[in-house]
Amino acid sequence: MSELAYPYEAPASQALFDRAAAVTPGGVNSPVRAFRAVGGTPRFMVSGTGPYLTDADGREYVDLVCSWGPMILGHSHPEVIAAVQDAVSRGTSFGTPGEGEVALAEEMVARVAPLEQVRLVSSGTEATMSAIRLARGFTQRTKVIKFAGCYHGHVDSLLAAAGSGVATFALPDTPGVTGAQAGDTVVLPYNDLDAVRAAFAAHPGEIACVITEASPGNMGVVPPADGFNQGLKDLCAENGALYISDEVMTGFRTSRAGWYGVDGVVPDLMTFGKVMGGGFPAAAFGGRADVMAHLAPAGPVYQAGTLSGNPVATAAGLAQLRLLDDAAYDKVNAVSKEIQGLVTDALTKEGVAHRLQTASNMFSVFFTDRPVRNYEDAKAQESFRFTAFFHSLLADGVYLPPSSFESWFVSTAHDERAVQRIADALPAAARAAAEATA
Ligand SMILES: *Cc1c(COP(=O)(O)O)cnc(C)c1O
Repeated sequence: MSELAYPYEAPASQALFDRAAAVTPGGVNSPVRAFRAVGGTPRFMVSGTGPYLTDADGREYVDLVCSWGPMILGHSHPEVIAAVQDAVSRGTSFGTPGEGEVALAEEMVARVAPLEQVRLVSSGTEATMSAIRLARGFTQRTKVIKFAGCYHGHVDSLLAAAGSGVATFALPDTPGVTGAQAGDTVVLPYNDLDAVRAAFAAHPGEIACVITEASPGNMGVVPPADGFNQGLKDLCAENGALYISDEVMTGFRTSRAGWYGVDGVVPDLMTFGKVMGGGFPAAAFGGRADVMAHLAPAGPVYQAGTLSGNPVATAAGLAQLRLLDDAAYDKVNAVSKEIQGLVTDALTKEGVAHRLQTASNMFSVFFTDRPVRNYEDAKAQESFRFTAFFHSLLADGVYLPPSSFESWFVSTAHDERAVQRIADALPAAARAAAEATA
C-alpha cells in the first residue's frame, strides 16, 4: 500500500517506530500493534486520561481499544492510580506472600460462584497454559479440544487456528511449535456441538479438556449460540473431561461475574487476565477446589512465578474491581449500546453491508451481510473496507483496534464528549468504507 493511502502524517511516531525496528523485531512487543493488517504508522502513545489517548505527535484520540480490554474505568482513573502509588511506596516485589494477593483472590472468588480457588499469574497466556497443564495432570489424559478463531494466548499447544494477531497474519500455525504439541490439540469449528461430539467419539478416554473463550472476541465478536456452552459442559461431564472457560477477555468486563454472570454455565476451570490487573500484568486461573488441590504445593502439578501476585499489580486490580459495581456495568453497557447504534446508522446510511455483533458491552463490526458464527464466516468479511474505515476514523481522532478480527472496548469514562467525537467522525469513515475497493 502506498504512503498516499494515508492523508496525514505522524512524524514523531514514525521516528520512534524506526528506532524500535532497529532493536525489536517488527518494531513492536506484540504483533497486532504494528498495524500490518491496516498499514500506516503505528501510533506511539505517551499518555492516557479517561477515554482519551495522546500520541507522540500530540494528537488526541478517543480510545476504543482500552488496552485490549483492561482499562474498563478509562485511563489514569484517580482511585486506581492512588492505590498503585500507595502500593509502590511500600516496595514493588517481595517474593513472599502478601495481603494484596489474598484480597484480590477473595474479591474474585466472591464475584464468580464457580471460582472456589484461584492461583495468580502474570499473563493470560500463563493462565491458560497452566490450566491446560492442570487439566492434563488431573485427568491423566493428553488431548485438548480448542476452537478455530479462539485465542488463548501464545501457548504452544493452543496456537493452532488461533484468532487475534494470528488471525490478522493469517498464519495457520507457527514455526517453533512441534508436531507433538500440535498433534495433541484437536481444533474444531466454533459453535458446532456435533463436531465436539464426534471428536469425543473419535478419541475415547483421551481428551483432558475443552478450552473455549467464554464468548469469543479474538476473531471479532462471535458470541456462543444458545446452548453451545452448556452443551460443551455436558459433553465434558459425560466424557470425563474438564470444561475450561477462558474469561481472560470477558472476565469482569461483560458483567461483574464476567461471562459466567451472563450465561450461568458452570466451568470446571476458568482463566482471567486483562480487567483483573487494572492495567498491570496480573492474571489468574481457578475453579473447582478438588481440581485446584492438584496444584503445587498442595498437589503434584507444578506451577510458579517470581512476580505472581505482585503487590503493585494486585493493588491496581483490586482497586479497579472494587470500583466495578452494578452502576459501573450499567454505564459501560449503555455507552457501548450508544456507540453501536451510531456505527450501524452511519454504515447503513452509506449502504455498507455489515454485521455488528455484540457480547454484552463487547462489540465489533464485520463487513459482510451474513451472520458470523465461526472463524470461517469471520474470514469471509471484506477486510479492505475495514482498512478504509479504520484510517478515516484514525485521521479524525478515533482509535479502533488495527484489525477487523478484534473486539472494540469502551469504558465508564466514555462520556458525551467522547461519544460526540465518534459520532462526528463516523459519516466520513462510513463513506470511506463504501468507496473502498479490494
Ligand atoms: C488476551 C487473551 C489471552 C492472553 O492474555 P495475555 O495476557 O495477552 O497473555 C488469552 N485468552 C483470551 C481470551 C484473551 O483475550
